[in-house]
Amino acid sequence: MFKSVASLLLLFTLAVVAAGQGKTENVILITLDGARTQEMFGGLDLDVLKSKTRRGRVEDTALYKKYYAETPEQRREKLMPFFWGTLMKQHGSIAGNRALGSAVMTTNKMWFSYPGYSEILTGQAHDDVINSNDKKRNPYPSVLEFLKRKLKLDAKQVAGFASWDVIDWVAEHEVGSITLNAGYEPYDHPDPEIKLMGRLQSEAPTPWDSVRHDYYTFRFAMAHLKSYQPRVLYLSLGETDDWAHGGNYDKTVQALANTDRYLRELWDYLQSNEHYRGKTSIIITVDHGRGATPKDWTDHGEKVPEAQYIWMAFISPDIPLRGEWKNAETIYQNQAAATLCRFLKLDYAENNPSAGKPVGRLFAVH
Ligand SMILES: [Zn+2]
Repeated sequence: MFKSVASLLLLFTLAVVAAGQGKTENVILITLDGARTQEMFGGLDLDVLKSKTRRGRVEDTALYKKYYAETPEQRREKLMPFFWGTLMKQHGSIAGNRALGSAVMTTNKMWFSYPGYSEILTGQAHDDVINSNDKKRNPYPSVLEFLKRKLKLDAKQVAGFASWDVIDWVAEHEVGSITLNAGYEPYDHPDPEIKLMGRLQSEAPTPWDSVRHDYYTFRFAMAHLKSYQPRVLYLSLGETDDWAHGGNYDKTVQALANTDRYLRELWDYLQSNEHYRGKTSIIITVDHGRGATPKDWTDHGEKVPEAQYIWMAFISPDIPLRGEWKNAETIYQNQAAATLCRFLKLDYAENNPSAGKPVGRLFAVH
């Protein structure tokens, strides 16, 4: 008797789990440009820090004091306490730690930004056509445009905010179909504080011509989220790449710590809001990796094969996986678009039959 009740209960649970994949009503894509697997999984990289410490002992540097610890797990949690201590423990999982037998790779062989973002957003690499970071219109429609059409949303309901101005060209195949705000573009919003930031972002000097500080990008995205409750949001942060290109390890590490605070603020808002709480699936990933050593951590592209290794995190009320993936099949950058759609029970193959498929492990019955 008990045995059959127990097995009935098990069947019931399995059915509920299978059917339960369906709470998602909103999706959020977040990318951290060129954020290496090394820091994501290992926190502060002591070899890189040593190579950047010209005078005195590495132990006396501010970075070491703030973020160093014995194990990779401790170091990364010091650097990104919300991501590792809360998100990955309680709400999601992450693939790409090769030390544990999990890898995520790009299928494009370019290993720089436009091809990476295009692969994420269209679900397919096109190395023959997409082979520069120039401001050229993406010839292929993006998953953002597909979702707008399938879900019959207006332009405010599908929004992208990006620090890098070229994202305008990558994320939209048809100009003006979705809300996009990238680079130093002011964001038209009634809040006077947002208006002020729109001016400040270009009037206050920054190190880069085509990338604004992530702070502005994040604030604009949050303002849009709170005002218009989009069902599809893309937050594209850039500083993790630009500081690294400049060889500034302090600022690169700091950018990851800042990102962690943004993730916390975003998450707290989602939890406070009826429209999003328990109904929002999130993918966090990266356009490309970069070199693994003190000599080439600043760099990526064809000459740096390490840059094809990336990572991808999934946070969803429909997916019970938690923490790091172990001994898992390699997954690919071209699967992000179809996975976002699958969260919403939509089939991205309708948009692009050659796109990568949804990440199977997420949707298997657990
Ligand atoms: Zn770069």
